[in-house]
Amino acid sequence: SRQGMSVLDLDASETTYISIDQFIARLHPDDRPVREQALEQYFSGKAPLYSCELRVHCRDGSWRWILARGMVVGHAPDGKPQRMIGTHADISEQKKVEAELIHLATTDPLTEVPNRRHFLEAMEAELLRTKRSGRPAALLMVDIDHFKNINDTYGHAVGDTVLRHFSRLAVKHLRRIDHFGRLGGEEFALLLPETNQAGAWQFADRFRRIVAETPADSTKGTISFTISIGIALFESTDAATDSILARSDAALYRAKEGGRNRVANGHKAGPLETVPEN
Ligand code: GH3
Ligand code: MG
Ligand code: MG
Repeated sequence: SRQGMSVLDLDASETTYISIDQFIARLHPDDRPVREQALEQYFSGKAPLYSCELRVHCRDGSWRWILARGMVVGHAPDGKPQRMIGTHADISEQKKVEAELIHLATTDPLTEVPNRRHFLEAMEAELLRTKRSGRPAALLMVDIDHFKNINDTYGHAVGDTVLRHFSRLAVKHLRRIDHFGRLGGEEFALLLPETNQAGAWQFADRFRRIVAETPADSTKGTISFTISIGIALFESTDAATDSILARSDAALYRAKEGGRNRVANGHKAGPLETVPEN
């Protein structure tokens, strides 16, 4: 049965009555299946009412978020739903606030890259994925070398500039499927899905070189700096992210001990591998 007429405030100024077909035509294509699913959930008894959040294209060209809710008020003699009433509430403002809150909760304010918590969430999701698929993934722990010297020599603000510069550089060299985050201070991490030992090493060493060759522009001139990287591969024995983080941390420590501006491999607790020189 049809839903009949639907009420929707299409312009800020006026309330317009449109048919359900016109309403569907104005929906964001990604949200049409959302609506279908919400209706299905309601009609099958899995949801107490029809309810979903949809993006609607308004006459003034803007997109609005609406909360659509409805229920059946009339049945045909054979018991099939025949009449439905519903409401459309404009929730665009709430959605904007929600997006701002999500941004605040997941982003490091200085560098605008994912914060520690958000990065660790991505890592947890990736660990589950590798467990299901048996596909490889690598974690790169990155720490800026002698960063305290930069602060001490040029001031904290220049240190901040270097952190932002480094973050932009990392984001620029990532693949779409990779994750990057600031774990804290001048410590960052890269998560490379679908990447084995050789791939991780290749990426890490190339990235190390790029950073060493790309100084930051600051108010105190050009600041050259280097990074050290510790690599850990995801293992089938990793029950949680801690063990992977611990291995990459141990590898990073060895890269520092080895003289900095280098990559170390934390894959296995074997003998120290030879580290390529700059
Ligand atoms: P290493 O090569 O061993 O990593 O030496 P390091 O100097 O980089 O490491 P250390 O841990 O001694 O110093 C890190 C410094 O980073 C100390 C801290 O004041 C500074 N730092 C942490 N967060 C920020 C920040 O947000 N901005 C700036 N400018 N400095 C920060
Ligand atoms: Mg450091
Ligand atoms: Mg550090």
